[in-house]
Amino acid sequence: MALITCKECGAQISEFAEVCPSCGAPTSISKTPPKEENTQQAYQQPQQAGYTQNPELPPKSWLVESILVTILCCLPFGIVGIVNASKVESRWYAGDKAGAKRASEEAGRWTKIGFFSGLAFAFIYVLLVVLGAFNGFWDGYSHYY
Ligand SMILES: [Zn+2]
Repeated sequence: MALITCKECGAQISEFAEVCPSCGAPTSISKTPPKEENTQQAYQQPQQAGYTQNPELPPKSWLVESILVTILCCLPFGIVGIVNASKVESRWYAGDKAGAKRASEEAGRWTKIGFFSGLAFAFIYVLLVVLGAFNGFWDGYSHYY
């Protein structure tokens, strides 16, 4: 049988040996693939790290929503929303990520308050119109007689 030279220690070993008998280094025909697992892990770890590092985007600014609230129902709440929305990006690009997140939460809160109070006002308005029409109907009825 043929002999090969160990890459690690230079000893003459059998070409069928999986590891060098004198130093234990794996030979070229080694069937144990210790590197394959390592490369798989090395492939997965940067992917996961990249996934967590990727969202380097500013938090939600609520700018569009707060403008809609300003136009459609409640100016004061919408203005507070717009002011905070404009702080989100300016703080973010100034490096104040925590401040940007706070402004985002604040903008979202006021936008929602504006939205829901707008809904409530619209509901009350419709209710008053309906009641007013109803009262007017009965007023007219009583005047008729
Ligand atoms: Zn060797």
